[in-house]
Amino acid sequence: MLAPAFARLPHPNPTADEVRAAAIADPVFGRVFTDHMVSIRYSDAKGWHDAQVMPRGPLLLDPATAVLHYAQEIFEGLKAYRLDDGSMALFRVEANAARFNASARRMAMAEIPEELFIGAVKAAVEADADWFPPVAGGALYLRPFMYASEVFLGVKPASEYHFLVIVSPVGNYFKSGAPAVSLWVSEHYTRAAPGGTGAAKCGGNYAASLIAQQEAIAKGHDQVVFLDAAEHRWIEELGGMNMFFVFDDGSIVTPPLTGTILPGITRDAIITLARDAGLTVREEPYSIDQWQADAESGRLTESFACGTAAVVTPVGKVTRGQTSFTIGAGGPGQVTTTLKDKLVGIQRGLAPDPHGWVTRL
Ligand SMILES: *Cc1c(COP(=O)(O)O)cnc(C)c1O
Repeated sequence: MLAPAFARLPHPNPTADEVRAAAIADPVFGRVFTDHMVSIRYSDAKGWHDAQVMPRGPLLLDPATAVLHYAQEIFEGLKAYRLDDGSMALFRVEANAARFNASARRMAMAEIPEELFIGAVKAAVEADADWFPPVAGGALYLRPFMYASEVFLGVKPASEYHFLVIVSPVGNYFKSGAPAVSLWVSEHYTRAAPGGTGAAKCGGNYAASLIAQQEAIAKGHDQVVFLDAAEHRWIEELGGMNMFFVFDDGSIVTPPLTGTILPGITRDAIITLARDAGLTVREEPYSIDQWQADAESGRLTESFACGTAAVVTPVGKVTRGQTSFTIGAGGPGQVTTTLKDKLVGIQRGLAPDPHGWVTRL
């Protein structure tokens, strides 16, 4: 099917320059939004239609809209960067398009042609190109998402979907170098079970994980670590970031993609960059007991989490029940910092891009 062209609806009253400048001077993650959004409709009868770049505004939903009842919803998250030469760039947008459709298949939703997804993301960035925060590490965070828009209470995959892209200017996640975070191991709640939706980027996974994150915060930690649902033994990931473990022989371990872990694009990039640097990366199960034993013996020297929003986040301390253990010296380690710098260098156009990850707009 031919992708529909985007209609462009002019904004009746765009944000005034000085208001925008104040909003993007030091934005809190996910709180500031631009003037426009992209909207595309799907129905079984008409296919993809009504592609628009339009003023951002509220959605009017019938109370019987399927997503409000059965949570048929998926999303993506990626960043656009303003490079030193003034051009704009997207990082691995093709991978986001492919993962969006993998999520759509798992949630029995309509798949969107990849070129339409990529076209929508580019149109969103171009419409709001004057919203890049003028700060080091500033970017436009892009949130493509799709929900079941059919008005029907029957329990079945919807026959109508609404796809949108909204844009949020974000600053550097960490103001002065990444601090090490403190993690809480959830021993009661699990995020995903075999055969479930753990590998799909769906809102429902987050809904199920919030209570564990709330528990972590209440206990004085930054983030929750989830273990596997079957044995409560194998480390899976954080609420929204994948995990890596660095050993004193220079090797790295990350949990394998068995269907319960979200296949992070940052995770994939880190694996590739580590192998490029001559490190051995093993995708294999790693248990919570082993993590503690290796941290205590010194065999494990670093641990970090990674994802689009915060890029690479070192882990300083881990708590399970009454016991805690420290990772390395409790701060950012050398391998973590090196891999992060390599990744950020490519994303920002400061280093060569041997894998073709950057799309210039
Ligand atoms: C999005 C997400 C990640 C990270 O994926 P990236 O593509 O690296 O941003 C990790 N875990 C979960 C649960 C996620 O939703």
